Amino acid sequence: MSIAIRTVGIIGAGQMGSGIAHVCSLAGIQVRINDLSGERINAGLASISENMSRQVSRGAITDADCQAALKRIRPATTYKDFSACDLVIEAASEDVEVKRTILAGLCPLLRSDALIATNTSSISITRLAASTDRPERFIGIHFMNPVHEIQLVELIRGIVTEDFTYEAAKEFIRRLGKTATPAEDFPAFIVHRIMLSMINEAIYTLYEGVGSVDAIDTAMRFGANHPMGPLQLADFIGLDTCLSIMQGLYEGLADSKYRPCPLLVKYVEAGWLGQRTKRGFYDYRAEHPKPTR
Ligand code: NAD
Repeated sequence: MSIAIRTVGIIGAGQMGSGIAHVCSLAGIQVRINDLSGERINAGLASISENMSRQVSRGAITDADCQAALKRIRPATTYKDFSACDLVIEAASEDVEVKRTILAGLCPLLRSDALIATNTSSISITRLAASTDRPERFIGIHFMNPVHEIQLVELIRGIVTEDFTYEAAKEFIRRLGKTATPAEDFPAFIVHRIMLSMINEAIYTLYEGVGSVDAIDTAMRFGANHPMGPLQLADFIGLDTCLSIMQGLYEGLADSKYRPCPLLVKYVEAGWLGQRTKRGFYDYRAEHPKPTR
């Protein structure tokens, strides 16, 4: 029988940490959430409340569910507040030293049988596991953004992760109503490796003049039935994020097929990062997005 997860601790109340708290609390799990300051925790709580209210307005959940879920989320001002947790998920900034410091500081304050997970997108799970006192109880649980809308979660075992940890994580994801898929501990795991390679290829297609922004996105929307063209998707993800994932694949796998397209590098150098900065492969400053090439 796998270990039941009833109380979850979350470190990092940013986009992902608050999204994870959101889905856990709606599934009836008690949540403690930590960040660098009370203000950041409160900002995370406010965004959870806002996102849940939107779900209530569109009829996805009831107001009673929302109120009950919000009551299950409590701030954790120190790691001592995680002492009753069955699982702690690290969802702090994507910086290996930040994560290693968190993990090393956290371990002595947890129950000896508690599991630890990281939501990292690009750091080796095995490497992070080595900063803990329990690598066999450590696993990658890779939620995607926005957490309350994306069905998939990738589960990544480190080299020392035990079966009971994997089974507990799988059961936890099932309880959240999400679909888990296993991925090995290689750069970008599965979804990003395939999706970003496609986006990078779309940018090469543009760079080499095979098609315009509009031609490429129209081709993939109507020719491959993708809900969004790859260049529109790149703008949505953020071109800086796309570049950093491609760099991780290129360096991590040492294969020239992952070379980031020079045009992607130029857009990032220009500060044209997509929707967030109002310009990328499309210009979002007018009423309707206009292709920039
Ligand atoms: P974010 O910047 O929105 O949030 C990170 C939070 O971590 C911030 O609130 C920051 O104050 C906090 N933090 C930093 N150092 C801390 C510390 N020592 N203790 C406690 N909190 C600390 O980032 P995010 O997008 O939520 O990403 C978090 C993690 O999730 C990263 O590892 C990222 O790779 C991963 N991830 C992100 C996405 C995405 O699309 N944004 C998708 C999947 C996974």
